Amino acid sequence: MFETIVALATPPMKSALAIIRVSGDDCFEVVSKCFSKDITKINERTILVGYIEDKKKGQRIDQVVLAIYKGPNSFTGENLVEIICHGSMLISQQILDILIEKGARMATNGEYSSRAFLHQKMDLVQAESINDIINATTKEAKNLSMLSLNGETSKLLVPVKTRLADIISLIEVNIDFPEYEDIEQANQQQVITICDEIIGLINKLIDDGEKAKIVKEGIKVAIVGKPNVGKSSLLNSLLGEEKAIVTDIAGTTRDTVEGDINLNGIVLHLVDTAGIRDASDVVESIGVDRAKKAIEQSELVLVVLDGSEKPTKEDQDILDITKDSNRIIIYNKADKINDKNDDRIYVSALNNNIEPLRKEIYKNLGLDEQVFHQPALNNARQIGLLKRAKLSLEKAKEDASNDLPIDLISVNLMDAYNAVLEILGEKNKADLSKEIFSRFCVGK
Ligand code: GDP
Repeated sequence: MFETIVALATPPMKSALAIIRVSGDDCFEVVSKCFSKDITKINERTILVGYIEDKKKGQRIDQVVLAIYKGPNSFTGENLVEIICHGSMLISQQILDILIEKGARMATNGEYSSRAFLHQKMDLVQAESINDIINATTKEAKNLSMLSLNGETSKLLVPVKTRLADIISLIEVNIDFPEYEDIEQANQQQVITICDEIIGLINKLIDDGEKAKIVKEGIKVAIVGKPNVGKSSLLNSLLGEEKAIVTDIAGTTRDTVEGDINLNGIVLHLVDTAGIRDASDVVESIGVDRAKKAIEQSELVLVVLDGSEKPTKEDQDILDITKDSNRIIIYNKADKINDKNDDRIYVSALNNNIEPLRKEIYKNLGLDEQVFHQPALNNARQIGLLKRAKLSLEKAKEDASNDLPIDLISVNLMDAYNAVLEILGEKNKADLSKEIFSRFCVGK
């Protein structure tokens, strides 16, 4: 039984039109109780014009258009109605109220997608992508999520699932039907070979996934350097706007300045940090502490040096503090440098000449053009489950190397299989009998 749920699908503000979505087993009955026409007998997708009304009071609430979807041909797979009304907050509220009075209840967050998933209109990877599409801030991130919505991303798991099912079925059939002599015997070496093959596939999925996650979520970047090397100027140059204050006085960037920039499709969540130095000034030292904290929190640290000067002790301190971080050392003020070293990254923040840095950031993150176009399992849940599957496969391999009986090895293979199913939100399908029968024709 799926209760009829209702929610405003458009933002809660004044606009030309608003859309209220109703879905559930009694959707058509509930809507008919407050619509000028009876829609309970409708059997196909259709559009109607009419009035939402409070029949008891004999009052019309609004003239509306109904988009009527007969399940299972709807987003949720249930009977679903979209009520397109005038975009007044008052009207939307009145319509929501009357629908609730007639038996619907307010939908919870994500409940429409969850219904779609429950009715097998989409798998979990697809359902998750809807949220990602709505939240994407770059077109690259949106495109990646579209690939997930289309089912392209889920397809990546097919080879992993198939190979796992191959080896598990072989083991199961050996255990369950030892009398079938024409069936190949599963042996430990075979398990090792197949595990290696699947681990290879999973490694690639994890690697691609981590990169795609950067496209989707961006990375946190700290800019550090002693006062006056040009951190604020660099930030401005990256931001393309005058957000941080640029001054000649050392140490004035006391507050952390934050900003997001879209670096050719990758969002850098920038934290401009105060210069690191032995500050006597209290305010300054708060900034220094913040800088150190920012380094800890960042996934990438941009260490800025003044390339036109000899490095000082302060520069060395910063290089020491950041030596274990993922960092790029930048030589700024390139416009004042004559002798350049080929393996260094030179920029001139003042002249907005920061292209070498852009390239280096891409290189540092291991990104190439492909990451924007290929589907990838790209959220923490999906990648976490891939890692779990890999761990189980490694255990299975170890058991096989230790010559453990084949039925014991299959426990870990099964764990790996279930982790893969969980990515797609499929239920624990421990019963592989269908696979076994389709592959081996046993019991014919
Ligand atoms: P911060 O203290 O590290 O944030 O440094 P600022 O960005 O405030 O810059 C300090 C000074 O260096 C300012 O006078 C900037 O105009 C100057 N500056 C910054 N970048 C460059 C550059 O690429 N070339 C030159 N010549 N001067 C720069």
